[in-house]
Amino acid sequence: MKIAQFYENGRVRLGLIQAGGMTPLDFEGDMISFIGSDRTMDTQNSQTLPLDRVKLAPPLTRPAKIIGIGLNYRDHAEEQNAKIPDEPIIFTKFPNTLIGHNDQITWDRDVTSRVDYEAELAVIIGKTIKHCPESKALEAVFGYTCANDVSARDIQFSNTQLVRGKSLDTFCPLGPWIVTADEIPDPGSLNVRCRLNGNLMQDGNTRLLIFNVPSLISFLSRSFTLVPGDIILTGTPKGVGTFRDPPVYMKDGDEVIVEIEGVGRLINTCRTG
Ligand code: MG
Repeated sequence: MKIAQFYENGRVRLGLIQAGGMTPLDFEGDMISFIGSDRTMDTQNSQTLPLDRVKLAPPLTRPAKIIGIGLNYRDHAEEQNAKIPDEPIIFTKFPNTLIGHNDQITWDRDVTSRVDYEAELAVIIGKTIKHCPESKALEAVFGYTCANDVSARDIQFSNTQLVRGKSLDTFCPLGPWIVTADEIPDPGSLNVRCRLNGNLMQDGNTRLLIFNVPSLISFLSRSFTLVPGDIILTGTPKGVGTFRDPPVYMKDGDEVIVEIEGVGRLINTCRTG
């Protein structure tokens, strides 16, 4: 199933993506409420709407955590001459970063002039887990979506903490929807691509992850309790703009697309102030 959040009269509702359109679910509440419910997918009171008539929201709007993983593809570590990490590098993005499909990534040019893209597979947790063994980790996944871990490199590299450069408003495009875990039995073999203005900038595959999805979930759950709706950004493959020669940064009017096999295509445009 593909489940989206969409806006209706100023509030968020859920819809099933099917047959070229979206059918609103007979469910009162948002995605986190749904994940924590018995997940009944009733649509009998709804008509399917064409997708171009629906304003999608990010598939989660109030997660308890957005967890980023740094340097989790060997080729991305190598492109910046970084040591391959011995254990996952963890950072966080705040929920103010979340935007949905077709929303604008915005920034103030007085704050940053080096804004970069990072295409990533995002894992959405479906259960409360603590000390989860790797063998049980995929059972705790609700689904998967596309993420763009947008990063202000000038801020990121001038600070010992990643959080400010990673957490400017609008810096976590997510979506367009969540594909439930039953449709992705192996998250360890998915193509992950990024296109900037139509040019292929990143072309990776989750089989090249240093720490795969089960090991990340297990590792994280040994440190802190994971709860329904927690988002794990699994890292980005090589090809980010800042390590290119010459470097490439996003600018006003750019279109950036994150595409993940079996999940979807997340499209956003850039607007600077
Ligand atoms: Mg990243």
